[in-house]
Amino acid sequence: MKAIRRFTVRAVIPESLHALDELAGNLRWSWHQPTRDLFRHVSEQLWRQTNHDPIALLGAVSPEHLADLANDEGFVGWANGLRDDLRRYIEEPRWYQSLPDAPRSIAYFSPEFGIAASLPQYSGGLGILAGDHLKSASDLGVPLTGVGLFYRSGYFAQSLSADGWQQESYPTFDPDGMPLSVLRHVDGTPALVALAVPDGRTLSARIWTTLVGRVRLLLLDTNIPENDDDLRGVTDRLYGGGGEHRLLQELLLGIGGVRALRVAGTLLGVQAPTVFHTNEGHAGFQGLERIAELIGDGLTFPQALEAVRAGTVFTTHTPVAAGIDRFEASLVRRYFEGHELVTGIDVDDVLRLGAEDYEGGAPGVFNMAVMGLRLAQRANGVSKLHGDVSRHMFAGLWPGFDFDEVPIGSVTNGVHAPTWTDPLLFELAQDALGTSDTAHADWFSPALSDDALWRVRGRLRENLVQDARTRLAAAWHRRSPSTITPPWLSAVLDPNVLTIGFARRVATYKRLTLMLHDKERLTRILNDPERPVQLVIAGKAHPADDGGKRLIQELVEFAARPEVRERLVFLPDYDITMAQTLYPGCDIWLNNPLRPLEACGTSGMKAALNGTLNLSILDGWWAEYFDGENGWAIPSADAAGDVAERDALEANALYDLIEHQIAPRFYDRDEGGVPARWMHQVRHTLTTLSPELSADRMVRQYVEDLYLPAAEEATGLGSDGYGGARRFAQWKARVTAAWPDIAVLHVESGGVDAVPEVGDRLRLRAYVALGELSPDDVTVEVVYGHAGEDDELVAPQHVRLEPRENSSGRAAAFEGVVPLDRSGAFGYTVRVVPSNPAMANPAELGLITSAG
Ligand SMILES: *Cc1c(COP(=O)(O)O)cnc(C)c1O
Repeated sequence: MKAIRRFTVRAVIPESLHALDELAGNLRWSWHQPTRDLFRHVSEQLWRQTNHDPIALLGAVSPEHLADLANDEGFVGWANGLRDDLRRYIEEPRWYQSLPDAPRSIAYFSPEFGIAASLPQYSGGLGILAGDHLKSASDLGVPLTGVGLFYRSGYFAQSLSADGWQQESYPTFDPDGMPLSVLRHVDGTPALVALAVPDGRTLSARIWTTLVGRVRLLLLDTNIPENDDDLRGVTDRLYGGGGEHRLLQELLLGIGGVRALRVAGTLLGVQAPTVFHTNEGHAGFQGLERIAELIGDGLTFPQALEAVRAGTVFTTHTPVAAGIDRFEASLVRRYFEGHELVTGIDVDDVLRLGAEDYEGGAPGVFNMAVMGLRLAQRANGVSKLHGDVSRHMFAGLWPGFDFDEVPIGSVTNGVHAPTWTDPLLFELAQDALGTSDTAHADWFSPALSDDALWRVRGRLRENLVQDARTRLAAAWHRRSPSTITPPWLSAVLDPNVLTIGFARRVATYKRLTLMLHDKERLTRILNDPERPVQLVIAGKAHPADDGGKRLIQELVEFAARPEVRERLVFLPDYDITMAQTLYPGCDIWLNNPLRPLEACGTSGMKAALNGTLNLSILDGWWAEYFDGENGWAIPSADAAGDVAERDALEANALYDLIEHQIAPRFYDRDEGGVPARWMHQVRHTLTTLSPELSADRMVRQYVEDLYLPAAEEATGLGSDGYGGARRFAQWKARVTAAWPDIAVLHVESGGVDAVPEVGDRLRLRAYVALGELSPDDVTVEVVYGHAGEDDELVAPQHVRLEPRENSSGRAAAFEGVVPLDRSGAFGYTVRVVPSNPAMANPAELGLITSAG
């Protein structure tokens, strides 16, 4: 095919309808139901055809129809009212504005953003989480600026060949046809950021910008004539290339992203951020650009590192090795060595940041997550369990500390309720409960009858069935354009049958085909004459993952069997629009990952917001929130001998739950045909989970636990010309150099008899060699608690020992008292760690000395 030059001609909107332009240009429409209703009113059919895309819709609508609308006073008033509402939303103070001393600007870096189906810059959970983060930040008034890349072909569109093999296509998106505008200088020329890359070349990028409510998003795009052909392709696809291509994307995201923020500062008045949050390791190079800037201001590398770390928050998202970017160190060296990518930073300092120079690490590898942790003073996983898994996974970076002391916390993900709650549920809440705040409504209120709720759940299921039929017919038609669609295709699924959904990226650990473990049993479950079950399945495999594609093929082949094809369907091209109908339409949302590899999992959260019950392995968020009433836990067979045995045990447990608990309860109807017990669980899920699972809760937690302390720390270290950073770096160097001389010489105890009793107080005095350090530089503490069988301390507690006056030098004395507050085996140890008010965590320097 010949390459054509393509561009988008935007519609000319009549003067009186300019409000439509303003509304389409701010992505708040993607979750603001009244605005969506307005666009749907312009043309119901085009709204559907354009996959809910206001800009495409306005481009497609005929000038005559626009003229009619322009003369329709009611419509014009409606549009103007919504525009005024948007302006108010953007300007009025919100939650964040009530916080004292909150930072005025926060940058949020992510390799993908999933905001709306019409801006397909995401592959899955990570991107949609980032989109939800921006939306909730906007709702809460958090002054965030998102930074990412604009991928010309997004991720990929999925279809299936006749034999069920995934086909990828890469549509070319025209940013001019999207709610994006290019950032320009006052003279009209596009603003560019430039990166020096090897062989004296330059990688340039223009900056697309859009508003997500109050939040600005900047997306860098290398597809411009200023670049050599190969470099134009740097932002061609999301996760498309390996090695060097991926490195170039990440250099652009991190380094280019910080430069783009400066440009946005000049041209749009975006304030210089105090806090930088990196969503996963891909954007880690942002720290280097900020360090380089401070070196330019006269700081040394260690001083600049401290200043940057203080203001950086790093979120790790995966315990799966393949999810972490690792480059050959030699490749990274080539980019940073001997030229001007970031000025003033020694390439060896760069390489040390990403080196796996700890037990179990690989030499010659540059690890982006490791760099992320070293460049951020605050780090977190995305559920409690994942925090724990991450502390184990990265413990090598803090040798000498127990797992639970590794400085990685957790903020459990949340999902943006207005985006992920079905409009029918909003309507129901409004009508029956008098509130549109579905996340905080009392779904047990007697004002809402079981029957009304059940009918809405039924309509949601019916919408899904309709949508699935439409999609399957379209897919059939695309695959075999000249054949007649078979009649059974328009009768797949039944709006009255218990519906189980499963959709996610087809990564091995998510086990798409676990349900096929015993195909005969599954067939019996689906076709049970009294209590039938149907399954709706979707998901994309990474284009390079043939194993994943084989799983899809296996599933599609099974789904084609005449005896199950009306009860089990695979819907191609899982995306946000499909998800918005799928999650609410299912009665049960299934998740069966290999525990503990699902860091959080957010699709089940979105399902729960709609009263869909979860059926899941106790992994990610479900391990934290399953309470026996909001769904079912599939027992995981972690202790099984091998993977096959584990799969068998867990698959059988899954079948048992469906057959013996879920289906009977779903089909247990009262005289009105309502499953009362089931409805109780739905109400319980809506009432208790919705507030917890909302992205508002998540973003508040990020603000309170991470952004505010990071801002305070960064401001402190940055004051008086970075005096704080200089002093902290100097102190750190001194303590690190002196540490080998630190020793706990001996510990004296007293205050208890030979046989101590509960209530006794154990007096301790420790003599510590401090070498060059003073007592102020350290914390000497007793760690004590119940002594386990292997002499480990169970749930240990800490008591700080205070230095005796004038204590210093070779054997400084530290004293304190430990209460013996419980009977049984007791143990303690005395240890020394560095102490400085600029530290966020005692483990931060990775230095510790314990009594021998
Ligand atoms: C929420 C969502 C995901 C992520 O779901 P997980 O449960 O984390 O796998 C992926 N794709 C789409 C379209 C989503 O809406």
